[in-house]
Amino acid sequence: MTEELDPFKISQKQLYGACKISGCSSEVYNVLSEPERFVEVKIIMKMDDGSLKVFKGFRSQYNSARGPMKGGIRWHPDESASLVKALSAWMTWKCACVDIPLGGAKGGIIINPKGMSNRELEMLARNYIRQLADFIGPNIDVPAPDVYTNPQIMAWMMDEYEKIMRKHVPSVITGKPLPLGGSAGRLIATAKGGSFCIREAAKDIGLNLNGAKVVIQGFGNAGSWASKILTQDFNCKVIAVSDSKGGIYNKNGLDPNRVIDQKEKTSTVLGVKDTQEITNEELLELECDILIPAALENVITKKNAKNINCKILAELANGPTTPSGDEILSNNGVLIIPDFLCNAGGVTVSYLEMVQGYYQYFWSEEEVIATLDRTMTKAYHETVEKAKEYNTHNRLGAYIIAVDRVINAMKLRGWI
Ligand code: NAD
Repeated sequence: MTEELDPFKISQKQLYGACKISGCSSEVYNVLSEPERFVEVKIIMKMDDGSLKVFKGFRSQYNSARGPMKGGIRWHPDESASLVKALSAWMTWKCACVDIPLGGAKGGIIINPKGMSNRELEMLARNYIRQLADFIGPNIDVPAPDVYTNPQIMAWMMDEYEKIMRKHVPSVITGKPLPLGGSAGRLIATAKGGSFCIREAAKDIGLNLNGAKVVIQGFGNAGSWASKILTQDFNCKVIAVSDSKGGIYNKNGLDPNRVIDQKEKTSTVLGVKDTQEITNEELLELECDILIPAALENVITKKNAKNINCKILAELANGPTTPSGDEILSNNGVLIIPDFLCNAGGVTVSYLEMVQGYYQYFWSEEEVIATLDRTMTKAYHETVEKAKEYNTHNRLGAYIIAVDRVINAMKLRGWI
């Protein structure tokens, strides 16, 4: 039988598993299994070369029971309605899992932004917000960066929203540059939050992080910071990293700063001195202590899960492992730190950015990171405990906690 790789169907299957094990009715599952609202927009662009192009954009608002909805904006050629819906579901469970008072959403545009000029990127950002301004806002739905979007793009989006509203509304968007109300620590938050989970997981299985071998797929915001933080904070040895063009490997360890320099100069990690080039597929199967998928979804499947050779799988990417992959890894004793727990550091600090934006009072990076540590450490241990209670794996443990919190909020509101 061919494996189901449709991201939204996968997210529904995971939710169904959690509902079944925790005894929710099929009626409640039906309520939770689709977004509250899904908006599709047309974005018209005049390109630099004079051509006229139309792109498709989305915003999926999955659940607002626990607070304003929250989720990033992805610009990618493989973006799709199904993926945006899945990511919005995972955002809902993520915010509930780390217990921040937000719901879940996600947005995106089907586009390859690589090679676009700054003017084109700015127009795209502004046009997307013009199309969606009626549906977002600090008390409704708050976007943020995701794959191939960044703080500058968030700045243009915030500015466009403020122009439409004719007032300052910094908490309409997070992941902004610091001078425009961004939070200290936001850039490193996803990787830093993941590193706190890795620290706790290593204690759980008695793994010494000093010299532990780390492999990272994806070298963008999440992956590159993970390489730096794990090296600096725990003296881990990052032996391989990759990007969309391929991977590099050195069994004695890579210097993250050198790889970051290379990526900045040439837009790829390939070509760092004293490294061997490998494919993304080979990279995932390297023998290591900690494997970190930090790129895209569906990279660990029925096909390659049996060859995954790590002790801890720390999912900084959203949806990197399919349900069949999960089963194989769990049977093989791999400790999985599931995506919506492992990468929740980003939205946690985004939430702190919203709070700081409301008060126009900003915290130091130390204060932000200490709060992040408390939040992630608590959520990690709650997840592991719940998984033990239900004699299941961590992903289902995290789902049971999150779904229960969302259901509780919906019941208190009288929705169900
Ligand atoms: P990014 O755009 O900064 O980086 C993406 C990286 O993935 C790039 O290095 C790119 O080259 C690489 N990549 C793209 N396609 C690839 C492929 N086919 N094989 C290997 N590498 C490939 O994005 P990011 O913000 O670092 O996001 C990465 C993942 O982390 C996504 O799944 C995202 O949803 C998730 N995430 C990010 C944040 C955040 O705050 N940035 C928060 C939570 C989750």
